Amino acid sequence: MTNAVGLHALVWVGDWSEPAARHAIESTHATGFDLIEVPLLDPTAVDPKMTRRLLDDHGLDVACSLGLDAHTDVSSENPRVVQRGRDRLAAAVEVAAAIGASRLCGVLYSALGKYPAPLGPAGRASVVETMAWLRDYARAAGVSVALEVVNRYETHVCNTAAEMLALIDDAGGGLDVHLDTFHMNIEEDGFADAVTKAGSRLGYVHVGESHRGYLGTGAVDFPAFFEALRATDYRGPITFESFSSAVVHETLSNTLAVWRATWDDPRDLAIHAREFIADRLMASGG
Ligand code: MN
Repeated sequence: MTNAVGLHALVWVGDWSEPAARHAIESTHATGFDLIEVPLLDPTAVDPKMTRRLLDDHGLDVACSLGLDAHTDVSSENPRVVQRGRDRLAAAVEVAAAIGASRLCGVLYSALGKYPAPLGPAGRASVVETMAWLRDYARAAGVSVALEVVNRYETHVCNTAAEMLALIDDAGGGLDVHLDTFHMNIEEDGFADAVTKAGSRLGYVHVGESHRGYLGTGAVDFPAFFEALRATDYRGPITFESFSSAVVHETLSNTLAVWRATWDDPRDLAIHAREFIADRLMASGG
């Protein structure tokens, strides 16, 4: 199997204190994953030295992700808000590099949440300019950037792979596409088309079910998705992302409207996801 299989830390914990980080990293390793995705919504809440030591102790790879908020929204037409967004992204790049993450992904181009109106030309210009800056800033730190395509209730910038590719072209290239099956289920024509369109520019993948719970129990067509990954020769990480009201993050759980307990046993969920992903990779010849 050529893909690293990852797990989002929020399956285990809602914060990143040392006991929480230890629990998340130990549990991710113990349930057979290669990589843990550490959210950096507040980069100052992640102690890089402690995190790096725990990762090294368990031989676990790491990726980092975040979404911006209203005060740091780089799709804003207010330059002060955009500057705060750049400062937050710069801090996230620094933490990612310090803990050994070679990838930063997520909604790095806008606030995470429902917008009241479409994106205007000035807002889009700010996103394009900021993403070109972020690419260069991150590259200098040895970090590659993948921009996540999310559904209409979580951004007004890009809701499909095609829109994201156009944005990246406008920013001068050099940025990857990050696809997530939960969002694709809402916005794309199907589970193969978006993967095919992204092609060699696909840099990160989230697998999540349509209700964000156990894989294979919702509406996502995983056979079609994994077959498309194989057909495009995708070699990057495949990270399981799942949320339940059983594990609460102070801000992210509310932003993502995690109101239900789609599961209550993280260990059982993680073991199931690891096996599900291995089976699908095997079935598609990966
Ligand atoms: Mn995602």
